[in-house]
Amino acid sequence: MSLVDQLAAVVGAEHATADVPAAYLSDATESRAMRGDASALVRPGSAEEVAAVVACCYERGAAMVPRGGGSGFAGGAVPLDGAVVVSLERLDRIRSLEPGLWRMEAEAGVTTATVRRRARESGLLYPVDPGAAEQSHIGGNVACNAGGPHAFKYGVTGAWVTGLEAVLAPGELVRSGGAVRKDVAGYDWARLLIGSEGTLGMVTAVHLRLVPAPETARPVAAVYADAESGCAVIAGVLAAGIEPATLEYLDGATLAAAGASFPAALTEAAGFMVIAEADGSVAEAARVADELREVLSVGALAVHEPEGRGEIEALWRWRSGVSIAVTALHGGKASEDIAVPVEHLGEAIRATLEIGARHGLETCSWGHAGDGNLHSTFMLDASDPAALERAEAAASELFDMALRLGGTVSGEHGVGLVKRAALAKQLAPAELRIAHAIKDAFDPKGLFNPSKKLP
Ligand SMILES: Cc1cc2nc3c(=O)[nH]c(=O)nc-3n(C[C@H](O)[C@H](O)[C@H](O)COP(=O)(O)OP(=O)(O)OC[C@H]3O[C@@H](n4cnc5c(N)ncnc54)[C@H](O)[C@@H]3O)c2cc1C
Repeated sequence: MSLVDQLAAVVGAEHATADVPAAYLSDATESRAMRGDASALVRPGSAEEVAAVVACCYERGAAMVPRGGGSGFAGGAVPLDGAVVVSLERLDRIRSLEPGLWRMEAEAGVTTATVRRRARESGLLYPVDPGAAEQSHIGGNVACNAGGPHAFKYGVTGAWVTGLEAVLAPGELVRSGGAVRKDVAGYDWARLLIGSEGTLGMVTAVHLRLVPAPETARPVAAVYADAESGCAVIAGVLAAGIEPATLEYLDGATLAAAGASFPAALTEAAGFMVIAEADGSVAEAARVADELREVLSVGALAVHEPEGRGEIEALWRWRSGVSIAVTALHGGKASEDIAVPVEHLGEAIRATLEIGARHGLETCSWGHAGDGNLHSTFMLDASDPAALERAEAAASELFDMALRLGGTVSGEHGVGLVKRAALAKQLAPAELRIAHAIKDAFDPKGLFNPSKKLP
């Protein structure tokens, strides 16, 4: 029996095919012309079916690529060398939502936006908000340990996971944590799956903790003539002991690409923008917004404070669309996500532009300033091999710069396919040894997303 026939016997013929649609061969790295090839696509409909699929592939020695929403920026979900794409999209149930207990159990294929919306409908907050929330899945967020603007105050995905259900080799469905709020018995293997990018096993469901939703949110957006003035203000917010929910930045080139749709008038002299948001009770948010306005006004050309839900949502919708607007400029981009200690943010922003210019690439950056996390981006025509090559060389210099400043090659997107060589520079020999030992312990045959994550 062929592998596809065997998989079809598990999930039903309509959910297993050797004729893999193009949509399952790429992720957001398509903007830099990345595309893989797969021998089969399988779409299990339950955790038990995922276990049976893994058992089948493990027995036959077939490599598997778990796939969430395909919004990843590291090529993690791109299948290589004829691997089997295991799409978790049919695991899309919220298994439980207990508002009185502030918790939810969601299957891996529930979109991030659905998790946030369902929490909000119950007066609760799931604060993690990576930019492609309508497309990305909670399983994919766990696999990448995704962040986003509100990670500054609330932390990244892993901070909200209290338990996992996952399929480990050679096809065993296991559970860790869940409703229990504390558990220090045994090694915390589930923590290792968070951020493992599908290389250690497949997440089938996630237990999330939630918190009561803040009564209100008050964003303050300010524009400056240049990055120096903007970065001084970011340092000022931290030094003043103000804790905004977000502390975002966009540089001048990003504003040039995406500013036309900014939901307020934007002066042509705008060379940098900072977006900080206060949240909490009405009184608390007003107090923090007042403090933010005072600090952000120093050296600002203009300050925009959206009012009411519609205006606030318009601001964040615009912010989520920045990546797409930048891609649209030349039809493609290579976007990295280095992070540096926040005091080096200004230097990293400046160095990003210098590196791009050296390689003849139009360059911009924006990102999560409070976390020192830059989306350093080289804009290009994805059908131009020479530009892609120049972007590769530029990215390599970018990673060196991040490491020189005491940072990391990936703040939130993960390593996937595109940053393996860079990670090799970041990890010490002992760390590399441990990483490979962990991989071997979880995946002795090396079949979970091979050629990803590990140098
Ligand atoms: C416009 C845009 C904005 C973005 N903004 C942000 C942002 O602000 N912050 C941020 O962190 N990211 C951001 N991203 C990147 C992306 O959305 C995140 O990395 C997200 O977590 C990927 O989730 P996904 O479901 O799309 O995963 P995929 O792209 O499908 O997969 C990503 C990786 O996870 C693995 N994987 C997926 N599901 C599972 C599973 N169930 N079990 C095991 N492994 C699995 C895959 O094998 C792959 O290695 C953005 C992307 C876009 C396109």
